[in-house]
Amino acid sequence: MGRTIAFIGLGNMGAPMAGNLVRAGHAVRGLDPSAAARDAAAARGVTPVETVEAAVDGADAVLTMLPDGALVRRVWAQIAAAVAPGTVVIDSSTIDVDSALAAHAMLEDKGCPTLDAPVSGGTGGAEAGTLTFMAGGSDAALAAGTPILEPMAGRVVPCGGPGAGQAAKVCNNMLLGISMIGAAEAFALGERLGLAHQALFDVISTSSGQCWSVNTYCPVPGPVPASPANDGYRPGFATALMLKDLRLAQAAAASRGAQIPLGAEAAQLYGLFESLGHGDTDFSGIFEFLRGRTG
Ligand code: NAD
Repeated sequence: MGRTIAFIGLGNMGAPMAGNLVRAGHAVRGLDPSAAARDAAAARGVTPVETVEAAVDGADAVLTMLPDGALVRRVWAQIAAAVAPGTVVIDSSTIDVDSALAAHAMLEDKGCPTLDAPVSGGTGGAEAGTLTFMAGGSDAALAAGTPILEPMAGRVVPCGGPGAGQAAKVCNNMLLGISMIGAAEAFALGERLGLAHQALFDVISTSSGQCWSVNTYCPVPGPVPASPANDGYRPGFATALMLKDLRLAQAAAASRGAQIPLGAEAAQLYGLFESLGHGDTDFSGIFEFLRGRTG
């Protein structure tokens, strides 16, 4: 049965996600300060509203998809002031674990089921409704929130209590950043040793070095036709977004006393790559930097 859902943050991810909720038969109200974002969402059947209060009034569920933790805290404080008890509230932004915990706490008194449910799958997954949601929250919140997420999801993975979704996301993306640098270094070294990219791919992809960064998203042109390396390193997943996630990993490690020396090194390298003007380049383009072919 169609429900009324408030969607706050209608950017590159939010607009297509909201559109998939409309397609599933829900009445979706959308809020975004950007007129272009509101118009794009309206073209997908979302009804634009002007305030948080108007968005959440009488809504069965509220979703936020915002750039950072400070904004999520600000918007969730507004939601907490306006929302009816029992409304399901979900944040799918990628933010720091401490902001996610603070957001959950804001709605505890209202008896609202809350989830931190960041996603992987990018804008392609948002369009196709095949995102992986990493969900953190109580069992009751997971039961209440999963049907809301399903029209946008390939999978909803329960990760544990409040904050666990963001924790899983930051660990996964830190590993991805590190493994892509490892893959790029291997291909750059292989090249200097006279190895053809295809020959090295044929070995690594079937040997102990195999990983997603090689097998599915190979950073050199040729072996994996769909990888951004074959398209001038057009994202895909932009270096600036990878850097954001690596910085979240550093903040998380600092606040909990974890040692992540390779995560820190990866943040340094992507930071350098970005400062050379490659923030909009796919993160696998770090291969060009490591082989010394980029300014
Ligand atoms: P985006 O910048 O395209 O969209 C964010 C939107 O939030 C913008 O339209 C902005 O106007 C809006 N906004 C800002 N302040 C607001 C407010 N107070 N109320 C309502 N809306 C407000 O970003 P995006 O690519 O859609 O990413 C959103 C989140 O998803 C980020 O946390 C990002 O890290 C995460 N994410 C992005 C990708 C990706 O591939 N783009 C993949 C996974 C996760």
